[in-house]
Amino acid sequence: MKQRTVTCPQCGNAVIWDAANPYRPFCSERCKMIDLGQWAAEAYRVPDTKKQDDEALKDEK
Ligand SMILES: [Zn+2]
Repeated sequence: MKQRTVTCPQCGNAVIWDAANPYRPFCSERCKMIDLGQWAAEAYRVPDTKKQDDEALKDEK
């Protein structure tokens, strides 16, 4: 059986695409969690635009 490899979208390591790897296409749980965290951060950023504008004025250095 030929092993298929993919590139981890998070760290760029080669990952063996195997049904036994629950984190594919990521190489590990850590990389998967980082990616999910970034996705969640993007999702939260969108409706917060107005609030961030107000805070940006206060926070100017
Ligand atoms: Zn990785």
